Amino acid sequence: MVGVQLSRSEIQRAAELRWRNVPAGIPAVLAEVFMNRLRGGSTIRKLTGGGQLGPALVSYKRFKRHCELHPRWGAEAWRLSDINGRFGKGARLRGLTRCHLGHSLSDALVYWQNGYIKRDCRTCRRLRRDNATMTQEAVKRVTAAIQNGVTVSQIIHGVPAGGGRRDPALVLVHPPAFYRYRRENPKFEALVQDAISARRHRPREFAQLNTFTYRYTPGDEAVIRQMLPGWLTTKDDVVNDIMILLFEGRVDRAQVPALANYFANQHSGQFPTRFAKFGNSPLLSLDEALFDDGSGTVGDKVTRGLWD
Ligand SMILES: [Zn+2]
Repeated sequence: MVGVQLSRSEIQRAAELRWRNVPAGIPAVLAEVFMNRLRGGSTIRKLTGGGQLGPALVSYKRFKRHCELHPRWGAEAWRLSDINGRFGKGARLRGLTRCHLGHSLSDALVYWQNGYIKRDCRTCRRLRRDNATMTQEAVKRVTAAIQNGVTVSQIIHGVPAGGGRRDPALVLVHPPAFYRYRRENPKFEALVQDAISARRHRPREFAQLNTFTYRYTPGDEAVIRQMLPGWLTTKDDVVNDIMILLFEGRVDRAQVPALANYFANQHSGQFPTRFAKFGNSPLLSLDEALFDDGSGTVGDKVTRGLWD
């Protein structure tokens, strides 16, 4: 029959003839062959499945019947099949040397994901990154979020402002798409950059007047001065700003190191040094005139209030 293509019905007819009058279960010789195949690494699915897996040795129905008739044989068959099945699991993917687009997987990115070892095609990753695009709708959403002060980290990673657990629901755009859009749209890039600097240098809220009591110790100015970075050219201004806050009782002594950092940033030259820091009034220097006629300075008021 070699070379002759049999039709479905002819195959069924041949099978029917072959198994006609054969007692239930698998004939002894065939059962031996079946078990030997299992010992050789095959599985019950392969030996009874047919189709793509190659010609079946016996039907699954007949195999099951044989298991009922010979439970010990059946138990052994399943034991071997399970072991072989586990071993063969993922063999097809493991054996791949190229991705579905034909790129070499020799330099694939290998990592764990949900208990599996995953191999990612680097060429495909690069293509995905370079071709990532933001829809017009996404551009609108992200622009609005940035204008409302949402952080970049929250927009692309779902990390809430101020840190905390990632929340995928907060993510508005896939990072590569976001970065590509920034690269290709200078206006959008400027918007993002401005938002980042604005957040970094945003004005800080301070406590109400006289929330804390401050006991002045001579040399406090020098201590604050020492906390400031060497490059800062406006150290006097920063020391003044902090001293005023202390005298006004708006900050506590313990807050001073953090404040020194904050004001150093504010004064770093990139941003206006006379930035409004609380309320609507900009900070006053201790030397600043208290009244328009020039009588007295803020410094006078502070010291007199304390020592008089
Ligand atoms: Zn690929």
